Amino acid sequence: MEKGKKRLVFTREEMLDMNKKTLLKRGVAVDAIAEITYKQQSRYTQNISRQVCYESVEKILSLRDVFHHIQLAAEIDRLAEEGMFQGPIQDIIFEDLGLFGIDETMGLDVAGIYGTIGLTNFGDIDVNKHGIVQRLNDAGKEPGICHTFLDDIVGAIAAAASTRVAQVMNEEYAHENDAIKKISIFDLDNLD
Ligand code: MG
Repeated sequence: MEKGKKRLVFTREEMLDMNKKTLLKRGVAVDAIAEITYKQQSRYTQNISRQVCYESVEKILSLRDVFHHIQLAAEIDRLAEEGMFQGPIQDIIFEDLGLFGIDETMGLDVAGIYGTIGLTNFGDIDVNKHGIVQRLNDAGKEPGICHTFLDDIVGAIAAAASTRVAQVMNEEYAHENDAIKKISIFDLDNLD
């Protein structure tokens, strides 16, 4: 890389690491997100493990699009806490105005990465405020704290992870069915 040139792209390991650090700085651990995923998905799928939920959250945290979302969302909240925006948008974001929906729009963008049901999962988390999402929402009402974007991004990651778990479980289920020949899509030469 040219000397002095700013680095704009990172490896998936680096993005996962930076995302985890950013979330922790804002009070969110991977475990807390995975717990929402586990609670939500175990309503629909039996015998899911916490491990697959945790892995799904980590996988999502390593994606470039999600990296951009998290880094931007965390910075918007921090800047609002520091009163750094000019004009009416400072108070709109800081006070988490109900009719301001750009935080939800960002959440929807992330929630759908493993399929459309992610959007429904996100809606459920947004309305029912499970676990860490409720805690972020409550803490965001304390003086000097802004979680306007963070609660949506965290809910969206949990929703996308929940969708990934459903996809993984269904894939396993499809392979369990003896009526379906166990041929991988990478093994097409063996098809009759
Ligand atoms: Mg919000």
